Amino acid sequence: MTKNGHLIAGAIASIYPAFIALNSFGLPYSLAACLMTIAGANAPDYLEIRYTKKIVKKSGFFQKPKEITVSKTVLAHRGVTHTILYWFTAFILSYLLINPTVWFHELIGRFSVLSELHDSKIILSLLLGYAFGGLTHLFGDLPNKKSIPIIPFGFRFCLNLWNSGEKEKFMMFLVGVVTCILVGIEANLLTLDRLLEWYAFVSELIVEFFQKIR
Ligand SMILES: [Zn+2]
Repeated sequence: MTKNGHLIAGAIASIYPAFIALNSFGLPYSLAACLMTIAGANAPDYLEIRYTKKIVKKSGFFQKPKEITVSKTVLAHRGVTHTILYWFTAFILSYLLINPTVWFHELIGRFSVLSELHDSKIILSLLLGYAFGGLTHLFGDLPNKKSIPIIPFGFRFCLNLWNSGEKEKFMMFLVGVVTCILVGIEANLLTLDRLLEWYAFVSELIVEFFQKIR
C-alpha cells in the first residue's frame, strides 16, 4: 500500500478505537483515539527513519563514475517496526486496561505501572488508537511480496498476492468490513447467536433460490 492508501485505511479503521473510547471515556477521548489511529497508520514505515544517501556508482570500466541518490532506512525495512506481536500486544494491553476482564483486574492490582495506566484515560485512548493504526498498516502490508515478522526476530509471513501499491481500494474495503464487524462485536450487536441466525437466514434464502430456478 502507498502512504496515502495506509492513511485512508487508518481513517476508516479509526471508527473502532473511537467507538471504544467514546463508550468508556467520552467524546474528547474518542477524538484523540481517532486521530492517533490515523497517526499510527504509517508508523511502522516512518519509525524506520528513512533518509537519502548519495553514493558514487561505476557502471563500466571506461565510464565515468556517477553520483546517485539512494533511499535507506536506519532500522531494517519491514523489520522491528513491522513486528505484528509488538503492535498486537500494545493494542490488547490498552484494550484490556480500558475494559478489564476479571483476571486482568487482579493483574492491574498487582502492578503499580498497570494501575497508573489504568487511571490515565488520555494515555489509554492515545495508545489504543496508535496501536490499532499500526495494526491496520501491517494488515495492508501483508498481501505484498516482502514478508513481515510475526514475532521479534522470528517467523516472518506474507501472502505474496500483489505488489505494494496495488489493489488499494479492495484493501480499504476489507479494512472497512473488519472495522464494522469489530464495532458490531463491541456494541454487542454481533454475537455468535446472531451470526448463526444470519447464517441460517442466508442459507434458507439460497436453498429457496435454487428450488425456484430448478
Ligand atoms: Zn510498511
